[in-house]
Amino acid sequence: MFIGHLPAGYILSGASNPNWRWVLPAALLGSILPDFDLIFFYFVDNRSIHHHHYWVHIPAFWALIAMFALPLLAWRGWFGTGLIFFAAIFLHLLLDTIVGGIQWAAPFSDHLYRFTEVPARYGNWVLSFVLHWTFLLELVVWGLALFLWFRKRET
Ligand SMILES: [Zn+2]
Repeated sequence: MFIGHLPAGYILSGASNPNWRWVLPAALLGSILPDFDLIFFYFVDNRSIHHHHYWVHIPAFWALIAMFALPLLAWRGWFGTGLIFFAAIFLHLLLDTIVGGIQWAAPFSDHLYRFTEVPARYGNWVLSFVLHWTFLLELVVWGLALFLWFRKRET
């Protein structure tokens, strides 16, 4: 996914319990957190390895972290917020599975599982993504998020 992660996090926050503390910030942060590895990808690794191979894009890593963090968060009364945070991370990984590829079988395999591939039809990879049919899904996510946001403002 290219531009749909943040609005997907917004939609997820709306589907959660509104009484949980800091649900919106937790959902928004979790929805984009794995892509913070792009800083490492561009400025340290010089784009030498697909950033979906970094540990922040590996479901098993987050499952392990969640397994330890959620009981601690529950103990401090932050279970709902933590749950939304980790759900947003897994939503990010699910959405990245559409075209980007995610190592769902890690640590047993480093294969990137994806539903479809974006062929490099144009010289610029951004143009290849934006003109691929899967970009319509991103626009749908944005449309739904904006619809929910406007509806929430009216009430
Ligand atoms: Zn990502």
